[in-house]
Amino acid sequence: MGNTLIPISFEFYPPQTPEGAEKLTAVRQRLVALKPEFFSCTFGAGGSTQDRTLDTIKLIHAESRNAAPHLSCVGATRENIGALLATYKSMGIKRIVALRGDLPSGMASIGEFHYANELVAFIRSQTGEHFHIEVAAYPEFHPQANSAREDMLNFKRKINAGANSAITQYFYNADAYFRFVDETRKLGVTTPIVPGIMPIVRFSQLARFSDTCGAEIPRWMRKTMEGYGDDAESIQNFGLDVVTRLCEKLIAGGAPGLHFYTLNQATASMEILKRLGYRA
Ligand code: FAD
Repeated sequence: MGNTLIPISFEFYPPQTPEGAEKLTAVRQRLVALKPEFFSCTFGAGGSTQDRTLDTIKLIHAESRNAAPHLSCVGATRENIGALLATYKSMGIKRIVALRGDLPSGMASIGEFHYANELVAFIRSQTGEHFHIEVAAYPEFHPQANSAREDMLNFKRKINAGANSAITQYFYNADAYFRFVDETRKLGVTTPIVPGIMPIVRFSQLARFSDTCGAEIPRWMRKTMEGYGDDAESIQNFGLDVVTRLCEKLIAGGAPGLHFYTLNQATASMEILKRLGYRA
């Protein structure tokens, strides 16, 4: 294939049960063969899953793998974020994915942080340069953004507050990513912006995610997958082709890395990476 092998990383969510944790350990054992730069684990804004994120990060760290906890600040206080930062620092964690998060329904108080740039600034004020800080970027723009330009300026605030690099929301239109990178470069952003890649496993699940996070499934893809109905194998084969092609375009266009939203499964990410020339 002749592609350059750019750095890769994998994202998990914290498993809910001991069986889920065991399965995830097996998933990591498969993925580690691809030599990822780090494994990250999401963090439920507002409390419910936060201990499970720490547990998952401890397991990854104990396997001597680079573990990157996500940390969202909505609904949080400086005190509890400060305590978590101190825990991660004392464990030897070096990378954090810093987010605002979304207030869970029924949770009234926004807490002491309003936007992710405030969290980035707080992490820097508490822990100096200890952590490599990743922030979120939205090539198709955040659903609450007033305008494309404001969203890019708000993205720049996070970089100015001290973020080292960014991971994007997933997308299936490479032009949106390239345009976002070009436009934010014009605004003076020089940090790497790594595309987030969502392999397609189940169409219904993907459609649900995309509706809430504002990531577009292009009409031609949606129609094709709808046409496959219950034929899961055809959807998966289509997804592998489309996402591999997307990654090829991103690599050819200079993407600095690929971050896979694994949904705690190894097979689809591994197959895409194999097609791109990565060897397990
Ligand atoms: P922000 O950067 O704060 O932006 C949120 C909105 O506010 C945007 O519309 C922005 O334009 C606007 N804005 C930003 N700053 C300002 C400002 N100073 N003044 C006015 N407006 C402003 N969610 C979780 O709960 N847990 C996770 O682990 C998690 N991981 C994620 C990982 C990645 C790579 C990505 C892309 C998203 C992740 N999310 C996660 C989802 C994320 O929390 C939501 O998309 C959330 O709605 C926004 O978070 P943010 O950090 O991008 O917010």
